[in-house]
Amino acid sequence: MFSKIFSNKYINKSITLFCDRRLSTTPINTNKLSCKLLVVGGGTGGCAVAAKFSKHIKKNNLIVLEPSEDHYYQPLFTLIGGGAATLEESRRNEKDVLPENCTWIKDKAVEYEPKNNVVHTEKGKIIEYDYLLIAVGLNLHYEKIPGLLESLNRPGGVCSNYSPKYVNRTFTALQNLNSGNAIFTFPNTAVKCPGAPQKICYIADHFLRKVGIIRSTYAFTFIW
Ligand SMILES: Cc1cc2nc3c(=O)[nH]c(=O)nc-3n(C[C@H](O)[C@H](O)[C@H](O)COP(=O)(O)OP(=O)(O)OC[C@H]3O[C@@H](n4cnc5c(N)ncnc54)[C@H](O)[C@@H]3O)c2cc1C
Repeated sequence: MFSKIFSNKYINKSITLFCDRRLSTTPINTNKLSCKLLVVGGGTGGCAVAAKFSKHIKKNNLIVLEPSEDHYYQPLFTLIGGGAATLEESRRNEKDVLPENCTWIKDKAVEYEPKNNVVHTEKGKIIEYDYLLIAVGLNLHYEKIPGLLESLNRPGGVCSNYSPKYVNRTFTALQNLNSGNAIFTFPNTAVKCPGAPQKICYIADHFLRKVGIIRSTYAFTFIW
């Protein structure tokens, strides 16, 4: 009896059935994710909130969506412009500043569906959430000022402390300034740090005096 039930005939049949089943199984959609809290943006705000909630949310339930592997502590940019810190000192690996408990998705949000609690990413992921925090900061649009991008991308005295791409130009420009006018501008838009344009003005003045440049040989204009 035993050998009859488990004869090759039965085994073969069950293997066939098993294989049929496997073939008809719907593949898992790895592009679909879900979590309790989704944080879009892993900058200062996103990291701080993720760290706070990671203590209360179970593993795999906290997702941070951030496209960049570099995390910058932007307040240091003013000091980089003034030669008192380096860009590398302001940089950390994104993975080192995120809480251990969170899942980092290296991608960016391209579409929000608040009615369905869903965010779509550039690489085609669909992330479902219970709670959503949007912390994408401010985007820089240098191209909106005619000629600015061209000037920032060629040697010369035009610089900006607002971006890690250009901040190193400021100290170079300062070191080359022996006399003449230096113009500091305050953006007339929403701004990452309203104190930054004034701070670099004072730091620059301090630097020039420290290296012995006589004050009457240069002038600062602050436009706002
Ligand atoms: C020169 C300078 C000096 C400053 N000085 C000071 C200071 O002295 N004191 C102070 O308190 N503050 C200062 N700040 C301001 C401070 O840095 C910002 O307030 C702070 O970084 C804002 O945090 P955030 O998380 O909102 O944005 P950010 O830190 O800019 O982070 C935004 C993140 O969102 C990501 N992101 C963007 N779009 C998407 C998307 N679609 N999907 C997913 N992720 C996205 C970006 O990659 C980025 O990592 C300064 C800033 C600058 C530039």
